[in-house]
Amino acid sequence: MIRAVRNARPLGGHDPVDLVLRDGIIAAIAPAGALDIAAGADVIDADGRFVLPGLWDEHVHMTQWAQSRRRIDVGEAESAAEAAAIVRSALAARTTSDEVVVGAGFRDGLWPDTPTASVLDAVLADRPLVLISADVHAVWLNSAAMVRFGVDSGDGLLREEAAFAVTRALDSASDATIDEWVREAAADAAARGVVGIVDLEMRWNLDDWLRRVASGFDALRVEFGVYPQHLDRAIAQRLRSGLPVAGEVSVGPLKVITDGSLNTRTAYCCDPYPDATEHAYGLLTVPPCDLQPLMARAHAAGFGLAIHAIGDAANRLALDAFARLGHGGRIEHAQLVRRSDLPRFAALGVTASVQPEHAMDDRDVAERYWPGRTHRAFPLRDLIDSGARVILGSDAPVAPLDPWIAISAATARTRDEREPFHGEQAITVAEALASSTRTRVAAGEHADLVLVDTDPLDMDARALRSMPVAHTLMAGRPTFGPAVAAQHNAATA
Ligand SMILES: [Zn+2]
Repeated sequence: MIRAVRNARPLGGHDPVDLVLRDGIIAAIAPAGALDIAAGADVIDADGRFVLPGLWDEHVHMTQWAQSRRRIDVGEAESAAEAAAIVRSALAARTTSDEVVVGAGFRDGLWPDTPTASVLDAVLADRPLVLISADVHAVWLNSAAMVRFGVDSGDGLLREEAAFAVTRALDSASDATIDEWVREAAADAAARGVVGIVDLEMRWNLDDWLRRVASGFDALRVEFGVYPQHLDRAIAQRLRSGLPVAGEVSVGPLKVITDGSLNTRTAYCCDPYPDATEHAYGLLTVPPCDLQPLMARAHAAGFGLAIHAIGDAANRLALDAFARLGHGGRIEHAQLVRRSDLPRFAALGVTASVQPEHAMDDRDVAERYWPGRTHRAFPLRDLIDSGARVILGSDAPVAPLDPWIAISAATARTRDEREPFHGEQAITVAEALASSTRTRVAAGEHADLVLVDTDPLDMDARALRSMPVAHTLMAGRPTFGPAVAAQHNAATA
């Protein structure tokens, strides 16, 4: 436990302060030197670094993220040889104890050379290596993987059912293995200043998190979601949102997915997709007549509501359902919103839980499939100006679990040399930080603190993407930084 943080500068050009921490809370805050703080190993000298509240990622799929981040991305390869070279440099850049090394994203349709087992054997011979194609309908194996997965013929490339069989076998990692990957993913999140996540993994999450806490997981606060197929079970077990279940893990909202997504052209929209042959307006996956009763039942049982809505028609219907319910909640994504619906978020107490990096990934797709409508796509500025509460997340593994990427995307609306994507929808760094935190640096608040070398309010919005973090504390306990390294060394000495 850290007893005090000395000489830390609040953001925005304020004088340095000292913070006294007690029982996971900021007990006192005063100008640097004004409090009598004895030196000790449990005191962090911030040395003039900047202090901000711990960051939250409000929308994560933690198990999928923990798995996908171990996969090597070979999506840029324009030949089999290039794919092999990407794997080689990825393996050189990291140490992995994985029994099977997995990469993903290759597109071999136009390659000049042939993906064969021997090309991969030259990269990795002593362990199985599996590359999954971008469309997931093919896998490419080295010789060790062919042995491991019982593929006794062919040149290492499998398609369709044979490929699916290998992919399914990859997904069968044990709970202990996945928990270890989650532990690593959480440590890396803490290294980015994260103190909490909302885990919307699409499964019965209670048992996973109870098991992880029992085996020592303590890097993050976690609120896990419940899906409609598990609502009866959750109610029977007397779960409700906010209920602590173990450690810093508590029950999150009921998550309901009401439409599809932009990339698959299934986000449910008021206008048809160009050239659509079926589902011209996208797909509504929960009919309005079912949505409100489902929300009412969950609300009556004490659940908060997180309603996935991407298209403008889905957003309108979700808002309609909240209006009939007479109680607010969250809309996840809110990617396309009609102007007339904007004020309804604030009026109904509905928080917009948005993922700014999706706008960077999908700006071209949005121009193509929502032509003439992208001025109201990812409308962060309009939402905040309408009075809505906006919170940021990654939807990892869709985007990396790194709030600085979300903050940068929300404020710069570009991540490269391109013009900002509808720069008029950018929000300020102060707004993005407020949307990524749940506490303040003030007495009585959780001692969830991040120390950084530079004031993010003074930084170029694009540079925020790779913001260095020096220390992270969660409930007064270091989860990243020199203090963690020291603890680790002491434990292993
Ligand atoms: Zn999601």
